[in-house]
Order: sequence, then C-alpha cells, then structure tokens
Amino acid sequence: MKTVLFAFVLAAIIPAQDVVAPAAHLQRITAEALKADVHFLASDELEGRATPSPGLDKAAAFLAERHEKLGLKPLFGNARLEGPMRPDTSAASARLTHAGGVLALGAERFLNTASQPLQLKQLAVLPAEAPDNASSEGSTASVLLHAGPITRDALARLARRRPAAILVTEPPAELPRLRMPLLRLTPEEAAQCTAGTHMELTIPEGKERFASNVGSFLPGSDPVLKDSALLVTAHYDHIGTGPPVDGDRIRNGADDDASGTSAALAVAFALKDRPLKRSVLFVHFYGEESGFLGSRRFVEHPPWPLKNMDAMFNLEMVGRPDDIGKDCAWVTGWTLSDFGARVAAVSATQGIRCYEHPRLSKMLFGGSDNFPFAEKGVVAHSISAGSLHKQYHQPGDEASTLDYENMARVVRGIAAAVEAMANDAVAPAFKPGTNWAEAAARR
Ligand SMILES: [Zn+2]
Repeated sequence: MKTVLFAFVLAAIIPAQDVVAPAAHLQRITAEALKADVHFLASDELEGRATPSPGLDKAAAFLAERHEKLGLKPLFGNARLEGPMRPDTSAASARLTHAGGVLALGAERFLNTASQPLQLKQLAVLPAEAPDNASSEGSTASVLLHAGPITRDALARLARRRPAAILVTEPPAELPRLRMPLLRLTPEEAAQCTAGTHMELTIPEGKERFASNVGSFLPGSDPVLKDSALLVTAHYDHIGTGPPVDGDRIRNGADDDASGTSAALAVAFALKDRPLKRSVLFVHFYGEESGFLGSRRFVEHPPWPLKNMDAMFNLEMVGRPDDIGKDCAWVTGWTLSDFGARVAAVSATQGIRCYEHPRLSKMLFGGSDNFPFAEKGVVAHSISAGSLHKQYHQPGDEASTLDYENMARVVRGIAAAVEAMANDAVAPAFKPGTNWAEAAARR
C-alpha cells in the first residue's frame, strides 16, 4: 500500500521522464561546496554586501578569483570586473541659466553624494509645487526647486518624483537617502529662477570604481553557434546593514542572493570542460537591490552582442525550499516564452520539478536582473527554489538556514538544462505577437 501510494505521488509531480542518476560532471555540484561559498558570501565580514561598500568589493574579488581558477575567460576584454567609476563630487558643478543671466554653482553647493557620475544639460527647473506629471513631461529632464524650509519627509516625497536634481534653500538637518544630487541655493538665487530657467549639471567620474559586475565565459565549440551565448547570472549584492533585530544589524543575504551566486559558480564548475556548442557567460551583478544598477549597465554596455544572447538563467534565492517543497524550482514569466517548459523537460530527468508558480511567476518577472535583459529582447527569466520567506531582507537570512542538499539537487537540474540548451540548435523564443517578441526582433 505504501509503495503504491508513493508511486502515485511521484507520478503526479514528475512529468513522464525517466529520472537518471546524475552524470559525473553534475556530481561535481555538491552541498559542501555550495555551503562553503554561501558561508563566505553571507558572512558578517562582508557586512551585507551593500552597493557600494568594501564588503561588496571583497565579494567581487572573491568571485573574479574563482572564475580565474575555474579557467573561465574574462568577459570584459582582459578583465573580469567592469563598472562605473565613483562620482568625483569635489569637481561637481552646475550652471543655472535664467532670464537675468547665468549662475555658476561649485562643489560646495552639493549637499549629498549622487550615486553615479552625471553629465546633464538643459534640465528644466520647475517649482516643487508643480504638478507631479510636470517633471516627466516632454523629453527634457527636470529639476525641482523648493524655496523656504523643507522637512525630511517632504524632501523624500519630492525625490519619489524622480527629478534629475533637487534645489533647496533651507535643507532639513537630517537628509533622506536620495539618488539624485541635492543643491543649495540662496533665497536670492532661488527668487531669480522663475519659469524658463535651465540647468546644466556635471559630476565627473572619480578614479575609484563605484561597484563592479563580475563576468567570465566558457567559449562554445560549434563554428556558428559559438557566437551565440547563454547567460547564467545572479546578483551578488544585498542591502547592507539596518536597524538591529535581536542585536543583529547585518542583512547577510544568504538566500538572497548568495545562494544564486554560489549556484552560478557551481554550474560553471560542472560545465567548465564540457563540449558546449554555444558559449556560456557567467555574470554576477552589483546593485540589483538598488534598482538593477549592474544589469542595466550591462545591457547598456554589452560585452557580447545582445542579439546573440539566446537566453538568460538568472538564479534568485535557490536555498530555501520551506514553502514550495523539496526538489522543485519555479521560473518567472513562464507563459511569455518556451524557456520554462524547456528547462522543465531537462530538469525532470534529474528529478527536479520545474514549474510556473501560481502567484510568484507572474509577479516577480519584473523583480530581478532578468528584466533589463527581457526589455532588450533577450529571453531572460529568473529561477527560484524558494519563496519570499520571513527572513527575506532581514538579519535572519543567514547561511545556517539554507538546505544545501536540496540546493545541490536543484542546481544539478539547472546545470543539466543549461548544458542541453547550449547544445540545442534551436534557441528559446518569446511567444510570437507579444511586446517581448517585438523587442527580440528589434535587437
Ligand atoms: Zn535577490
């Protein structure tokens, strides 16, 4: 009776494929190795890997060294690290052109450090009281000007309208975290900046790197298909530190996403000497938690032609099967392309059920680094083997909470799917007639 019931359950969850013992190269993916990598990346020493931070830089150096040891080729010319230089706020400047003349503002007027170097011209200066939609009208980016005292909260509300910069005369004592430059004007200067004022804003690059994407690749062996690439990616940043919970300030980000980062290394280790027709790129992104900064930079400065990127396996939170059960993984944006079904067919041979999560697959397609790629027409999906557990973005997302045995089995299933897709003459595709398919055709 027991056996019959067991067989019935198995038949129900695994499609009609024979589960085969993992091939020798897939057995190189072990719970021990995954555990060691997650323990390092999510250690307190790395302080939650905020973008930018010394902890993130340490993680980048660790990943680049691992790529080198694996014998992967550098993806960015001769380098494995690529990213913007820090802004040089000591050389920042702005010019305001109004009806009465030009105001030149030096670095001492900048009250915060913008997160990226900037070179912006012809920004329309609008009063902060202008309607919300005024700042996004037309093609001219805008600057919001608030004369008089402003509270921290009111300033944060202005920032949510995403102006290119904010001008104030009486900033609050404590500033909110802002992504755009904040500059101080005198009340007299502010009074001159009536309608029609334009601003030019320059924050040059400094010499030090702001943050890095880490990337390497395995070259394909097929004379034609080697120019095409699959990507295996994961973001290696997290959110740093925050208010203490039970005395712990560090958001270690073990599942999010030291797990995916370690999984990508494990896939590279399994496939490094396999004959692969397509090339396979292994990329770790910075700044996912700050709005996909690293992946957006990558697609804006692609080291490999976008039109030759055939699919992206973005590994996100693969260490905590708590809610979804073991030996499972789900794919975001399942219905948008044939990617999920193709991954599922191969992962089933490794005993891994890959499926469309009834709630999260749709909801989270736009929730990770696959999205900037999909917008550019690359068949790009995230794969997860867990869910938004209660330690998500909390200090409790620690390396000790992951199920490494399950993770190893899931990552073997993913590696098998990467290998099969790398050798398949037919690349996956977005569903015809969708915006995604149109973006793919435009590449
Ligand atoms: Zn994540």
